[in-house]
Amino acid sequence: MISTSLPASRFSVGLTGGIGSGKTTVADMFAARGAAVIDTDQIAHQLTAPGGAAIAEIRAQFGDAFLMENGAMDRAKIREYVFSEPAAKSRLEAILHPLIRIEVERAAQQAQGEYLIFVVPLLVESSSWKQRVSRVLVVDCLEETQVRRVMSRSGLPEAQVRAIMAAQASRQERLAAANDVIDNNGDALALAPQVDRLHAAYAALASASAAHREN
Ligand code: ADP
Repeated sequence: MISTSLPASRFSVGLTGGIGSGKTTVADMFAARGAAVIDTDQIAHQLTAPGGAAIAEIRAQFGDAFLMENGAMDRAKIREYVFSEPAAKSRLEAILHPLIRIEVERAAQQAQGEYLIFVVPLLVESSSWKQRVSRVLVVDCLEETQVRRVMSRSGLPEAQVRAIMAAQASRQERLAAANDVIDNNGDALALAPQVDRLHAAYAALASASAAHREN
């Protein structure tokens, strides 16, 4: 019988965690070991950079006031606006999410690594992302540690960091959705053995799934 279903996609890991949990740090370590990392935040930045594919629609819906002189979306201004206006948040997401998905799938098609890692800050909040990935990997740390790291990285005031965290899934919700967890409460040295172990497991699952698809 000829199968009419789409070919199963490559083995992929959705890497998530709260702001400041260490997603980027951990993703870089997987990339160094041979995973193809696709960062949805980076893609969103490109879409809203000068000349980015989302800019025309953002201008049409929000106006020039939300663009900077160089033509990029004014991230600080729009963040502040959508925080106080849930309807505006939905409108912005309706512009960005489909474009992000197109770019993500394009990057996934072109990716060379042993397997794919999608870095998705709000993965647990998104049923379509949970369905898209083979496994969910959560980078976990105490909320106090998140606050401290974000404040020292970005200089944001504590209240703003906590407001961002309050708009994301809770630590418990994330852990409940995880297939795998990396504990990032310790120092950076404590990450390497955890990444080594998971990378070996993912590489094995990826080659098993590739063999299965070829049969
Ligand atoms: P995310 O991408 O989840 O927001 P990052 O990987 O950017 O988090 O990490 C947030 C900040 O904390 C960065 O400045 C990073 O260098 C730092 N950081 C991450 N993990 C550790 C760690 N184990 N020890 C100390 N600093 C860390």
